[in-house]
Amino acid sequence: MTDPEPTKLRKGELAVDPLQPEDATLRFIGTIRTPFTTRDLCPRQGKLNGPDCRLELLPHWAPALKGISDFEYIDVLYWLHRSRRDLVLQSPRGDGVTTGTFALRSPVRPNPIGLSRVRLIRQEGDTLVVKGLDCLDKTPLVDIKPERCAYTPQAPHKDADQT
Ligand code: SAM
Repeated sequence: MTDPEPTKLRKGELAVDPLQPEDATLRFIGTIRTPFTTRDLCPRQGKLNGPDCRLELLPHWAPALKGISDFEYIDVLYWLHRSRRDLVLQSPRGDGVTTGTFALRSPVRPNPIGLSRVRLIRQEGDTLVVKGLDCLDKTPLVDIKPERCAYTPQAPHKDADQT
């Protein structure tokens, strides 16, 4: 895994001790391939008419794709591995005006999880071709889920599902 790229603090920004990781151990399920080789080339949010990107699953997890091609839109979670993880106040415009990390979708956060809703273009074996990503080439893939609104739970109904 590549180390985070150091970034300079902007006026008003606040970094804290990022603390040692506690409990969760992620298993990366694959790698995302995009045409974006630097952060400057990544859009701030992916566009559904953007370039084709590839979710390359490790063959070990390939059976978990069964049924995915029924969905036009899927949610993709990924690990923004080049981010620093210690900022609690950030100044996105670099003008000294700060916003709390949890009120931003910045890649800089204690657990740098990215989330994008993407359009599933096609499945090629263990790979999904999608549009709508904004991450660097070779970003680790954390999870894939069908888009929530189109998804009908297959599990039996339970009382807590009532509105
Ligand atoms: N769509 C996701 C979300 O809202 O959770 C991520 C949004 S984040 C603002 C996208 C930006 O993160 C990109 O424009 C790029 O600057 C940066 N980025 C992309 N891939 C990254 C990576 N692997 N490590 C660190 N930063 C990354």
